[in-house]
Amino acid sequence: ARTPLIAGNWKMNLDHLQAVAFVQKLHWTLKDAKHEDGTVEVAVFPPFTDLRSVQTLIDADKIPFALGAQDLSAHDSGAYTGEISGAFLAKLDAKYVIIGHSERREYHAEGDDVVAAKVKAALKHGLVPVICVGETAEDLEKFGASAVPAGQLKAALEGVPASAEIVVAYEPVWAIGSGQAATPAQAQEVCAALRSVLSTVLDADAAARTRVLYGGSVKASNIASFMREPDVDGALVGGASLLADEFSSIIRFQK
Ligand code: 13P
Repeated sequence: ARTPLIAGNWKMNLDHLQAVAFVQKLHWTLKDAKHEDGTVEVAVFPPFTDLRSVQTLIDADKIPFALGAQDLSAHDSGAYTGEISGAFLAKLDAKYVIIGHSERREYHAEGDDVVAAKVKAALKHGLVPVICVGETAEDLEKFGASAVPAGQLKAALEGVPASAEIVVAYEPVWAIGSGQAATPAQAQEVCAALRSVLSTVLDADAAARTRVLYGGSVKASNIASFMREPDVDGALVGGASLLADEFSSIIRFQK
């Protein structure tokens, strides 16, 4: 069985001092929650400048949160001003890295080729890529829900070995930050389609083992309905991951 993953993408919020206070508060509100026994995995994705202080805190206080970054460079090192190498993230004990978030695709013109190169870079440095895919409202109308995300995933998996650990996140662009989440049935349909891409491009074992998350206006009041779907293995949470009580309730979901 796949361990559910509840991941908080902070986006460009919380400086390193606020980050430390927030993680302490979140840990406190989760005392005795099921993530303590490994039934649910929790991961936080702070901005780059927070990673070192959050790493130090979770290490010192033995806080059972995995650490992730929101992006990485496709390159290992060199003359790439402003970029962050996967090697640096691995040194900070980051386990995960988000790749191909719709905000990067939109505001930083990251196409499928860049996403595929970043996935390779993540794997090379021992990081687990959280590959984000999703259709816009316009795509949904023109092509239906699954075609665009399935195509994005196929492209991102180019050259990835079947044995690699990856996570896939289905985030319909129209559901991000809009308060209008997909219905559980919509999420299930696309997550199942993405799992069949994993099966065709990688293999059946990869499809059975890889976690496919839903993201887009997830909150405490709708998490259970998503988690009841057989192909939804967790959530990538934006806005609600910045509220300690709300995020804590999401982590404590009951199916
Ligand atoms: P919201 O949860 O704020 O809709 O954001 C989702 C998201 O983009 C997570 O990566």
